[in-house]
Amino acid sequence: MTKHIPSLLTLLAFFGFTGAAYSQQGVVKSTTIAVQPANSYQVEANSAEAVGLKCESCVMEQAYFVVGQDTVKVTQDAHADMAALVFLPSKQKTVTFYSGTIKGDLSLNFMNGTPTKPIAKKGVTLRTGDGNCSFEVVPPSVWRAGLNQPSYTPGFSTTNVIAVHHGASANTAPTYEESLRVLRSYYTYHTTPKANGGNGWSDIGYNYLIGPDGTIFLGREKLSWQTRDSDEIIGAHLCAMNTNTMGICMIGDYSNQMPTAKALESLYKLIKWKAEKSNIDLDSRVLHPADPNRTQNNIPRLIGHREGPCSTTCPGELFYKNHFISPANHPDRPIRNEVGNVCEVPLGFTNEEMNQIVVVYPNPTNGSELKANFEYRTVAVHALDGKVIRPATKKSGESISTSDLAKGIYFLHFDTPDYGRVVRRVVIN
Ligand SMILES: [Zn+2]
Repeated sequence: MTKHIPSLLTLLAFFGFTGAAYSQQGVVKSTTIAVQPANSYQVEANSAEAVGLKCESCVMEQAYFVVGQDTVKVTQDAHADMAALVFLPSKQKTVTFYSGTIKGDLSLNFMNGTPTKPIAKKGVTLRTGDGNCSFEVVPPSVWRAGLNQPSYTPGFSTTNVIAVHHGASANTAPTYEESLRVLRSYYTYHTTPKANGGNGWSDIGYNYLIGPDGTIFLGREKLSWQTRDSDEIIGAHLCAMNTNTMGICMIGDYSNQMPTAKALESLYKLIKWKAEKSNIDLDSRVLHPADPNRTQNNIPRLIGHREGPCSTTCPGELFYKNHFISPANHPDRPIRNEVGNVCEVPLGFTNEEMNQIVVVYPNPTNGSELKANFEYRTVAVHALDGKVIRPATKKSGESISTSDLAKGIYFLHFDTPDYGRVVRRVVIN
C-alpha cells in the first residue's frame, strides 16, 4: 500500500446494489462496470473486505483502489487468467476504483471472509510412518462453514511432484482467525463464476494451504465414497498442468518477507509426510507435463511454482531465493535440507539431552558475539515472528557476531553435521 491520491478523478460514477440476496460472508455483492482506461469509479462495496476482479479482454496494469488516504494496487493473479484478488485494509461501504490500463467489461466480486460465527479449530491428526512427525489438518467441513459448498466430483492422479505456492495476498497477523479469514476469501474468489469476478473453478485451487500461524488446512477434499486420498486430487494451481502434482499454498505474500517459522515448520512436516506416504524421492527429478523445456526428467520433485511452465514470481522472490536455490558449494536446496531435518531427533538423544549437548553461550549476551560449543555448517538468525534477520551463512569458526542485532529475542537456526537442524533461542541485552 502506498499513500497516493488519484489525479485523474475524471469520471465519478456510482454503482448501486444489484439486488440479489447476499449473506454477510462469502460474496456480498457482484457488479460489472464498462470501464474506460485512466478513469475513476465509485463502487458500492457492501461492507466487503476483499474484491475479486475479472476481465476477459483486459490488461490489468496500474489499476488500484483508493481507500481513505491509501491506495491498494491491483496485481494480476498468476494462478488464473485476467483476474486479481485484492484485500482492502478493512471492511468498506464504498470504494473508489482507478482503472489504469483496463478497457472493457470488468466484473467486481465483493467478498467477506470473516465467518458470522467463530469457527473453532478442529483438525485431523496425520503422522509419518515412523511416528516421529505428526501434525493437524483442518478439513473443509470445518473452515468452509457458512460458505457455498462445491458440487463437483474430484478427479485423481498419482501425485509424485509437490509444488509450493504463495497466495500473493497481503500479509496478516499470524493467528488462526486471520488465516481462516484469508483462506475463506481465496475459496470464494476461486469458486465464484467468472462473470462475477471469480475464477469460476469447481473448488479452491490447492490441495493444502498453510496459514502464518502454522495451521494446515485441507484444500480440495475427496467425496466420502471415493477411495483415493485427497492429496491425489487434481487441483488448479499449475497453469492447467496440474496432473501428478500436489499443490501447497502458503497464505500471504512472500516476495519481500519470509513465511513465519511456524508456517515453515508445518510446510516441512507436510512435505515429509507426503514424500513418505507416496514414496517420493525428493532428490530426484521427473518428466512432468509442466516441464518448461520438455526435456526428460527436468522437474525436481519438489518445486516452487515458478519452476513450472508458468510465467510467475510465485512462491515469492525472497522465499524462492532462500529456499529453492542451492547455496554456493552446497548440493542441496535449503528446503530439501529443512524437510530432511524436521522432526528428526538424533539417534539416542532426547530433546532434553539435546538442550544440554548443543549449547549457545553466553545467553543472554551483553557482548557482541556468541559462541556455540558444537560444529555447524551454517547459521541463520530469525526474529521471534519467524522473519529472517540474517539468512543462512557459511561459518568456519564457532563465534557468531551479534553486533548488528538490536536488543531482543532471536532464534539461531544451525545446520549441524552431527545433530541435523538445531534451533536455539538467544537473548541479546
Ligand atoms: Zn503459485
